[in-house]
Amino acid sequence: MILNKTKPHIIIVGANFSGLTAASKLSKSYEVTVIDPTENFQWTPNIHEILSDVKKQTSLSLSLETMISRLGHRFVNRAVSAIDGKMQTVTLDDQQTLNYDVLLIASGHARSNYGIKGADEYARGFRTADNVIQVHRDITAAIDSGKRAININIIGGGFTGVEVLGELLRKYSGDKRLHINVIDSAPRLIQALPEKLSSDIVERCKNHQISFHFNKKITEVKKDSIAFSDHESLDSDITIWSAGTKLPDYLDKIDTEKSANGLAVNTYLQAKSFSNIFVAGDSATYPKPLPKQASIAMDMGGHAAANIVRFCAGKALKPFKVSATPVLLSLGDINTYFIQGKLVLASPMLAAAKEAVYQVYMARLSTLLPLEQSCSSLASRVTLSAEKLLLAEVFKLRPKVLLQRSKIL
Ligand SMILES: Cc1cc2nc3c(=O)[nH]c(=O)nc-3n(C[C@H](O)[C@H](O)[C@H](O)COP(=O)(O)OP(=O)(O)OC[C@H]3O[C@@H](n4cnc5c(N)ncnc54)[C@H](O)[C@@H]3O)c2cc1C
Repeated sequence: MILNKTKPHIIIVGANFSGLTAASKLSKSYEVTVIDPTENFQWTPNIHEILSDVKKQTSLSLSLETMISRLGHRFVNRAVSAIDGKMQTVTLDDQQTLNYDVLLIASGHARSNYGIKGADEYARGFRTADNVIQVHRDITAAIDSGKRAININIIGGGFTGVEVLGELLRKYSGDKRLHINVIDSAPRLIQALPEKLSSDIVERCKNHQISFHFNKKITEVKKDSIAFSDHESLDSDITIWSAGTKLPDYLDKIDTEKSANGLAVNTYLQAKSFSNIFVAGDSATYPKPLPKQASIAMDMGGHAAANIVRFCAGKALKPFKVSATPVLLSLGDINTYFIQGKLVLASPMLAAAKEAVYQVYMARLSTLLPLEQSCSSLASRVTLSAEKLLLAEVFKLRPKVLLQRSKIL
């Protein structure tokens, strides 16, 4: 298909990892509109560190308006409420309708409560920096209230659940009033990664005030407790929801093939029913299952942009090739894990590698900001990291402890 337009209108829905990467690859020879209800790009892989004050919300955020306008594109700070693939329109939450020639859906995924009663009302989400700040406030309020026992329940022992647990231990492991429960319907932690990782984390936590509850099916989340299908229950002062994802509601009615938490795409990242709708990042269900990772979302965003350029020029599209990316998982200041396939390396020193990934990518994205802003945000990120993380945590470990915890699992 060759678009008979000198300047095709490309709309990108969502401006985080995949959407912003795509926007940065499209030149001013296209009319590009980027839509997102949030004002800032957010580095989600480190938001859990707000819990332990190792990161601030500002050190994980960059202004979307500034970056997108410097790219020469238009930023619309609203949410999309509907997409009509046949009419080629996007409707915003203020009922405004925009026409597009090519659309990129890069809006991630939404929280799923699996229909559990009370989950929406009483369990705090953990998907954005605002969510984490709310949890931080709840814990501070519970501590300040003078309670003698505070139960924090983490629902979902996946990647996020483990990182939340680690940050709680980094900050509160000396406070014997706190007890943390990690609850999952699976028989172990992080089902998608090797079993030995789960065993090592459980082992590392055995001297802390933590209980793991596996194979547990939740029937109801109440204000101050959680009920299970086996009629047991757990007291809860703070319930954190780090389980389950689904397709965002606004995509429910789009007339193309869907999966439980994404839109089905072909290898060119096109939606099944519309050749001019591309999907990238967590919103996309690729023919082969892909991990929901920031690096993969960025690769998909870049690839979708390149295919959109080919599509507009009537050229043949190229299939997306997935590069095997290792995963770095942190358990607070206790340990950090490097996982690639079946290989699992553990060492507190890997915290520096995880931090370096964050610093390098944020510095790269900051080049889209005016020089003065980019330098000052870089300086504050590096200072905070050196002061709160590397100097305070990694380098304080004695060589013996460091060696004990560093190993190939
Ligand atoms: C706590 C946590 C820890 C994580 N840790 C890691 C990690 O260590 N390593 C790793 O690789 N990955 C990690 N991830 C996963 C990673 O963040 C995601 O894979 C990545 O964010 C996906 O990028 P994306 O661009 O597809 O979607 P997102 O980053 O979710 O961005 C979606 C964007 O779309 C916008 N949007 C949503 N709805 C609408 C709408 N209706 N209209 C317009 N815009 C909309 C949102 O505001 C957002 O800006 C973590 C995620 C979380 C939540």
